[in-house]
Amino acid sequence: MSLIVMKFGGSSVGDAERMKRVAKRIVERSREGHQCVVVVSAMGDTTDDLIDLSKQIYDGTPPAREMDMLLTTGEQVSVALLSMAIHSLGEAAVSYTGWQAGMYTEAVHGKARIADIQPQRVLNSLERGNIVIVAGFQGMTVDGEITTLGRGGSDTTAVALAAAIKADLCEIFTDVDGIYSTDPRVVKVARKLKEISYDEMLELANLGAAVLHPRAVEYAKNYNVTLVVRSSFTYNEGTNVKEEAVMEQGIVVRGIAYDKNVARISILGVPEKPGQLAKVFTALAKSQIDVDIIVQSGVLDGSADFSFTTSLSDLEKALEVIEQIREEVAFREVTSEMNLVKVSIVGAGMVSTPGVAATMFEVISELGISISLVSTSEIKVSCVIDGTRLPDVIRALHTAYGLDTAEQAFVGGPSERR
Ligand code: ADP
Ligand code: ASP
Ligand code: MG
Repeated sequence: MSLIVMKFGGSSVGDAERMKRVAKRIVERSREGHQCVVVVSAMGDTTDDLIDLSKQIYDGTPPAREMDMLLTTGEQVSVALLSMAIHSLGEAAVSYTGWQAGMYTEAVHGKARIADIQPQRVLNSLERGNIVIVAGFQGMTVDGEITTLGRGGSDTTAVALAAAIKADLCEIFTDVDGIYSTDPRVVKVARKLKEISYDEMLELANLGAAVLHPRAVEYAKNYNVTLVVRSSFTYNEGTNVKEEAVMEQGIVVRGIAYDKNVARISILGVPEKPGQLAKVFTALAKSQIDVDIIVQSGVLDGSADFSFTTSLSDLEKALEVIEQIREEVAFREVTSEMNLVKVSIVGAGMVSTPGVAATMFEVISELGISISLVSTSEIKVSCVIDGTRLPDVIRALHTAYGLDTAEQAFVGGPSERR
């Protein structure tokens, strides 16, 4: 008998029929003799719908505490319904919120990190013969405040819980049947990967590949969790995420990711004196705003310009923060750009292969698109470009790096996604 954590994403439980199918799948596993802990997300587009609703009520950025209070309701609906569906198949199940399951987080709303897990209640419940269902994406601070882990955070609940209860396996069930060389919704001939290393997957996830939440991969790497991504609609073999993964011969780029959640902010005419950059980025960090690529241009007439990227969802808040330090920094002007995307290539073999970045720049320029920012690490190259022709860029890169296959990728969920 083994202990398995199974995680089902929003589209896998998008309606009552899908919820029942997922319940059947869990019961099958349980009847094979495994102990099952299940983590589940909010149904379908529930989280987006709740965000839309908040926008109709509140003009601007709603109070973060109340946003968490609102969004965590989505997962609570799912756990209760899934537990009922399992009961109706004749098995014992108990649902828990994140806080009931002992998921403690730091005191940050909207994208809290897990600080501690006290899984005793989950373990006791398993011992009593239940299938345990835990709400993903949510936790509680030591002061009893409700928090969320950031969009896509149910993956992290699952992997962190798997580490805490020393599960033998963590299976992430989603609407594609594994991790592909790029988003199979964009490239139909994307290549399904048998395996991928934690490091490569971490880069891809950080660079926008929604298939796994970055912190889930971090947990898997740090606690050596056996992690598989597979389809909730088929029984196809999935993709193993592991310490080291074999690269197919002749392929240098393992995957291509894109991130539409990108905005660029430029602060112009900043008087040149020590500590100016620190003032801006300290203020942003204090407001929990992550900054990505930073570029400072040369100094002219004693003042400098600089640009940086942040997530589109943080743009409004970032501009508010910058406004608050306008006098202190004494800059001339602040501008922002929104119709941008970040496209990235990732592969552990890139370090030892020259010309990989050059190919990327060439492919993008052949499409007549200019590159506004570039950033690199040992195993990735990212370009920030205008987002209008994103699918063309991804397809061209996929072909250029020899990743196209003859088969069509399996995409099981609704084709129209936000
Ligand atoms: P869930 O609701 O199950 O958490 P997500 O929408 O968060 O599902 O993640 C699955 C989606 O990730 C897929 O539908 C696919 O469009 C997208 N995706 C992006 N990059 C990749 C990739 N490299 N491999 C597989 N899927 C990817
Ligand atoms: N429901 C949350 C979201 O949509 C968490 C998740 O699905 O993982 O982001
Ligand atoms: Mg997800």
